[in-house]
Amino acid sequence: MTLHTKIAGYADPSLHAHGLYIGGQWEKGAGIPVLDPSTGEVLAEVADASVENALRAVDAAETAASQWRQTPPRQRSEILRRWFQLMTDRAEELATLISLENGKALADARGEVAYAAEFFRWYAEEATRIPGEYRHTPSGSHNILVDHEPIGISVLITPWNFPAAMATRKIGPALAAGCTVILKPASETPLTAYAMARLGEEAGVPAGVVNVVTTTNPGPVTNAMLADPRVRKLSFTGSTGVGRILLAEAAKSVVSCSMELGGNAPFVVFDDADLDAALDGAMVAKMRNAGEACTAANRFYVQAGIHDAFVEGLSKRMAGLKIGKGYDADTQCGPMIATKAVQKIDQLVSEAVRRGARATTGGAPLPGSGYFYPPTVLVDVPVDASIAHEEIFGPVAPVYRFESEEEAIRLANDTEYGLAAYVYTRDMKRAMRVGRGIETGMLGINRGLMSDPAAPFGGVKQSGLGREGGVTGILEFMEAKYYAIEL
Ligand code: NAP
Repeated sequence: MTLHTKIAGYADPSLHAHGLYIGGQWEKGAGIPVLDPSTGEVLAEVADASVENALRAVDAAETAASQWRQTPPRQRSEILRRWFQLMTDRAEELATLISLENGKALADARGEVAYAAEFFRWYAEEATRIPGEYRHTPSGSHNILVDHEPIGISVLITPWNFPAAMATRKIGPALAAGCTVILKPASETPLTAYAMARLGEEAGVPAGVVNVVTTTNPGPVTNAMLADPRVRKLSFTGSTGVGRILLAEAAKSVVSCSMELGGNAPFVVFDDADLDAALDGAMVAKMRNAGEACTAANRFYVQAGIHDAFVEGLSKRMAGLKIGKGYDADTQCGPMIATKAVQKIDQLVSEAVRRGARATTGGAPLPGSGYFYPPTVLVDVPVDASIAHEEIFGPVAPVYRFESEEEAIRLANDTEYGLAAYVYTRDMKRAMRVGRGIETGMLGINRGLMSDPAAPFGGVKQSGLGREGGVTGILEFMEAKYYAIEL
């Protein structure tokens, strides 16, 4: 079955132009097959950009830059607001497309479209509120004026797990700030990026302001763009490993970097927690996107008094989830993105089981076509097993027992990551105390979902640099300029 017949009835086929998008032109190409993770079938093929193509995208972004940075903020705002509206109007088509190429359940894909569109609405509002500052020097010698200017041409690199939201979380603030961009989406999920660019055109984004290039050669293509002195910003979301490589590359031209990297979120449940609320939160924190989320709960630390009841409740809920193709209406847990993702999860679980862990549900890949791993709960996991230290990025919940608050904080911090954490307790003083003790950029208190465009998203330690969203997100795409004014 072809892509178009699969999404017939939902999608306007003109959304899907399978080519590079440079300077407002669609350039047909081939070389990157896009697979349906639910079946392993090829859905479509998109263009494979060369270094030369990418540098043409930089040319296009430069040509558009002088006009765009001078566009009145209100006008930039209204374009972003139209883009938000178009995404909202076409939500079902976009959700289906995301589900097709990423595999996530339609309910998750619908949630992603709504979340992704909200970044355009939020930054449509922020575009008209760019902050400045005016003050006297303490000595009275002169006045200080601080203005914010667009940082310049920005390269945006996104992962496959939220193909729409990770793009809008960068494009929204960049455009609001007055920057032009080159988006390089993940090779597994390029169709959503191109569909979004189509909607941007419809919303009135001028040619060259947003360019999209897909490539099988991300290292050399990105390095060439970073080495071009016209490029002043790299905003990357992806793994910590690739983030380290890109930071080193960006250092050569001293390019400003925002880095949203990997996570290893602890989910801490105290004896006094509301058990049902903790289980509801655990299911959201673990199973949103079938566990393929940077904020996914990766380690469940449960206090001894509530441990067994929590394991029983979690195992029941995980075992009850309907596994299936992402785009089947009743699916609650779709496939993983690729065979190698299933293999990695399998290795982590197998090693833990060899070392004494036990699966109360799941525990082995599912046979057949598509890349399926079932919802799994592990108990008796050694705290030094690889699964406690690496991102699982799948539907596996290892549960560890702890006794004291100090032990919970120590275990939570035993990682190089610091993106997200969750705490369940009825005692707010304890929640805040534990929150202050955990090294993390974001903390959910009695809540399993924290992402919101109005909040600063980002991590500490090796989970990243900078924040996306919130009132400060736009400043990642701006430079402060100080004017010293003689009195
Ligand atoms: P990834 O392998 O790091 O890839 C991310 C992006 O980087 C893709 O577009 C990829 O392109 C590109 N890339 C790979 N090697 C590159 C290189 N040498 N130079 C330039 N670009 C390169 O990560 P992923 O597997 O797609 O995504 C999962 C990871 O992202 C997890 O670690 C997750 O925690 C993290 N993540 C973090 C956040 C956050 O906000 N902190 C959000 C979502 C995901 P190709 O696809 O062509 O390889």
